[in-house]
Amino acid sequence: MNSLKPTPVRRRYSITMMLSLTSLLVLLLFIAMAVLVQNRLGSFQNLLQNITGSAIPAVVQSSKVYSQINQLLYLTEALSRSPSQAVRHNLYQDIQLNLQGLQSLTKEWQTGFYQNAQLVALTEEIDNLNQLMSERLELQSKVQSSQQQIYQLYEQVQLYTSKLALADEERHSQWLLEFAAVVTLSGKASDSNRVMQLRQLKQQIEQQMLRLRQARAVLPANQLELAEQSDLQLRSLLLESEGLLPLREQQLAIGGRATGRGNFVRNLVLDYARLAENSAYDISGTVLADAAQIQQQLQQDNRQILSGALLVIVFLLVAIALIHRRVVRRLEQLNHNVLLQVQGKAAAHQIEGHDEIAAIARSFAYFASTVAAQQQELQQLSYTDSLTGLANRRAFEQQFHQALVQAQRQQWPLTLLMIDVDCFKAYNDHYGHKAGDDTLVRVAALLQQGINRGSDLVARYGGEEFIAILPDTNAAGASAIASQLLLLFRQAALPHQFNQATDHVSISIGICCVDEASKADYDSMLRRADNALYQAKANGRNGFAFSEH
Ligand code: GH3
Ligand code: MG
Ligand code: MG
Repeated sequence: MNSLKPTPVRRRYSITMMLSLTSLLVLLLFIAMAVLVQNRLGSFQNLLQNITGSAIPAVVQSSKVYSQINQLLYLTEALSRSPSQAVRHNLYQDIQLNLQGLQSLTKEWQTGFYQNAQLVALTEEIDNLNQLMSERLELQSKVQSSQQQIYQLYEQVQLYTSKLALADEERHSQWLLEFAAVVTLSGKASDSNRVMQLRQLKQQIEQQMLRLRQARAVLPANQLELAEQSDLQLRSLLLESEGLLPLREQQLAIGGRATGRGNFVRNLVLDYARLAENSAYDISGTVLADAAQIQQQLQQDNRQILSGALLVIVFLLVAIALIHRRVVRRLEQLNHNVLLQVQGKAAAHQIEGHDEIAAIARSFAYFASTVAAQQQELQQLSYTDSLTGLANRRAFEQQFHQALVQAQRQQWPLTLLMIDVDCFKAYNDHYGHKAGDDTLVRVAALLQQGINRGSDLVARYGGEEFIAILPDTNAAGASAIASQLLLLFRQAALPHQFNQATDHVSISIGICCVDEASKADYDSMLRRADNALYQAKANGRNGFAFSEH
């Protein structure tokens, strides 16, 4: 029975641990997947933030810069062609505003020192261009006014000549013609767009002035002075430092510089535009590269998530199969075993292992064996007399039937002894019921001592009456046994002063002995033994008597 005792569950193999580990692993796999998904969502968010936070503003900024630069290009070209100071002034102011706008855009864009430096250089160059244009326009107006003065001088000379007497007028005509030729030549100054042309024109004018001087020689002395003054004035207006030709030369020089500066500024602006374009291109390139990388990463992550999910599913399937095999099937087996046990059948398959179910199975087996033992004990108790420990009347009846059947089959004789303690009521009355009980126990022991063959049975029939079955025992054997019993009581000499037969506890025995058991039955044998007992009592007790046939 000890082997069936429940044993503690070994932790290593326990189902609790298996289920806990499974749950933990599933939980870990889910956490890993959640972290992965969270991480990917973070990347998505970063990409979107990058696009909305930097790429889109950069593209917007870049288009703003473009339009600003285009406008600047148009304005600087217009500046380098300004027809007047007023137009130049307005254009310059527009350019300043445009540059300020560009400056703030550049600052917002934070594209680095290089573009800022470009912008500073551009601003300086535009200032220079503006300065040059201003000088150019100033010279232009000076040239125009110088030309105007020349024409006015000619008109004065003409007017003066027309007022002369006819003879004088004719003398003046040649000089006036030469004068007009100089003035006409001066008109070419505005058309001369090259310094070389201007120098040639200057030589022509010098020669013409020479001719003018010669023409002056024929003039009368009183008019000579005026002519000389006019010639000098004309020379001064044409050739001296603030004269038409030097002014025109300066104008050409400044014009050339302004054009050069204008082209330079134009190139600078175009450069700047290219830089801006490059930056925008770089930004969009970076964003596109980022997006491509994230897309690649996402594809990879998707594969990882998919394989993770597959892993979880496979793991769950394995776990379910394992739980089914290790838990469900064994619980079903346990249930089956319990039902078999209840029906009193042996279990076909025992549950082996070291886990909880095996422990429950062992506990149940222990419980079942305990119940069986208790059942056996109960059964034994139901066949035992509680006071004396001898077989009781029920056990006797069962045994008697078997002995009868056996005797009939084997053709054996069979003896029945009905034994009664003499004057036991008196014993109880005088020694007390407890002493009576104790004496009954001693009586039982003495009877057991006297009737000790393995096939014999002594039982307590009720009260102070006992009964014995002696199989395969004839009258002689019965007589010997009865005498032996009486002797044992005599030797035991349990005091009983109130026994009418003797001074110790004694018994009377009624014997029923059958040679042919086939003719006997339970009731008749019992009745005959009882009669014999009655006879023994009547004979004076402490003896035995045989029943009559
Ligand atoms: P006899 O010699 O004629 O048999 O006289 P007796 O007094 O023995 O017979 P009786 O039938 O009148 O009395 C039997 C007595 O046995 C009655 C009862 O007090 C006693 N007795 C029966 N069973 C028990 C028992 O279990 N314990 C005790 N102490 N006394 C018992
Ligand atoms: Mg009696
Ligand atoms: Mg009696």
